[in-house]
Amino acid sequence: MDHTTLTLDGQRAAVDDGTTPPHAVIRVDDVHKIYDMGETSVRALRGVTLDVEPGGFLAIMGASGSGKSTLMNILGCLDRPTSGRYLLDGTDVSRLDKRALALVRNRKLGFVFQGFNLLPRTTALENVQLPALYSPSTKAERVARAKYALGLVGLTSRAHHFPSQMSGGQQQRVAIARALVNRPSILLADEPTGNLDSRTSVEIMAVLQGLNDAGLTIVLVTHEHEIAQFAKRIVVFRDGRIRRDDAVLERPRATDVLETLPALDD
Ligand code: ADP
Ligand code: MG
Repeated sequence: MDHTTLTLDGQRAAVDDGTTPPHAVIRVDDVHKIYDMGETSVRALRGVTLDVEPGGFLAIMGASGSGKSTLMNILGCLDRPTSGRYLLDGTDVSRLDKRALALVRNRKLGFVFQGFNLLPRTTALENVQLPALYSPSTKAERVARAKYALGLVGLTSRAHHFPSQMSGGQQQRVAIARALVNRPSILLADEPTGNLDSRTSVEIMAVLQGLNDAGLTIVLVTHEHEIAQFAKRIVVFRDGRIRRDDAVLERPRATDVLETLPALDD
């Protein structure tokens, strides 16, 4: 997986001279979410405040029902808070309508899920191009961007393979490339290693660490402590609130951990 030498968009990042404090790419301010179900209502988020700086790598943990997916849906502009604000890249998106949210989603956000959700009779290269179909671009540009994204996840050689010809880990890497094709500022990953064996999970974390090193902001939900340790910061939810928010002090490099694990066929 030789992806670490590439920058995310194939260009040099702007030089940060350190004089301006970094703005939060995600700023969640006292967000509440109440699901109204007629007779009853569920208070899924009860005042969540959270900032993520550019280049952050946040792992969200917490018991089932604690509000993780509800927050991810809000961060992903799939749902809106009942009250409170969500600023994405400095813009308040908490009151945008569905159409406007869809635009923001397409431009700024990439999604990776537990299931890879690739189209089966479609090659890796075509799967990766799908989100780019909705942005103004020529076919040649889309192909170039998709090839670049496959390179970022170390799958250049599998561009013309179908999902059934790839391992679970390779399919998830295709899904990550698909999430990157519109050059998002944030990657949101809900249990991306939930369907993978432990070595493959660490391989996926190596890909995510490489992308994060190149500047991509990542928010990841996971149940597994060992997986969360690869992030820079771990937030733990309980009953719709943040109960802990800790920096990861001795963060392992997934590429180092891989060397200690028995190899499987790639
Ligand atoms: P987690 O992802 O941490 O398991 P969720 O955010 O899915 O938690 O759920 C938080 C709470 O909100 C739970 O009590 C859940 O049952 C409830 N909930 C989630 N989604 C909905 C929904 N669409 N309608 C009603 N209640 C919901
Ligand atoms: Mg969930």
